[in-house]
Amino acid sequence: MILVFTGEGKGKTTAALGCAIRAKGRDKKVILIQFLKGSNTGEVLLIHKLNLFPIYRFGTENFFYPKSPDQKIVDLVKKGIKFALELISSREFDILILDELNIVFHLGIAEPEEFLKAVETLPKEKHIIITGRDAPESIIERADLVTEMREIKHYFTATGKTINGLDI
Ligand code: ATP
Ligand code: MG
Repeated sequence: MILVFTGEGKGKTTAALGCAIRAKGRDKKVILIQFLKGSNTGEVLLIHKLNLFPIYRFGTENFFYPKSPDQKIVDLVKKGIKFALELISSREFDILILDELNIVFHLGIAEPEEFLKAVETLPKEKHIIITGRDAPESIIERADLVTEMREIKHYFTATGKTINGLDI
């Protein structure tokens, strides 16, 4: 089962983490992998504080949406992709969240086809949640659920500011 949260509006990562918390309440095994971004958002702090589920990160501080990430970050993200593919073949999870994977695909750091090939080996009860803007067509086509966050309004546009606790 593949679930995708994409689009320009706010709520992709928080939607995925909402699913994670719901699944945790049902004693499912959740794993979160975050690509490109490495700053400590509030939910990451909480997940660590409560020891809810493991988080693996392959990114740097304050990394938003780079047009051309430097080689160090590309290498780090590639390591993360390898780790994710190994995890998929180990099947050691119920819900695997791949935060910002769509951006990794969009930047050409990983191939959606390679990822989909790995996922096809999984039994139906395993769930993969993918977030990030610009989901590739092949992922959308294969996914079982796709929600597009469409921005109608965002305070950031007017204020240029993020809100601690809501955004970070
Ligand atoms: P969130 O993590 O709040 O669910 P998101 O995953 O949909 O947001 P990302 O593209 O990952 O959005 O953006 C990461 C950061 O940018 C978050 O702090 C988020 O709140 C903020 N953000 C999201 N959408 C927008 C937007 N349209 N304009 C400005 N900032 C945004
Ligand atoms: Mg996000």
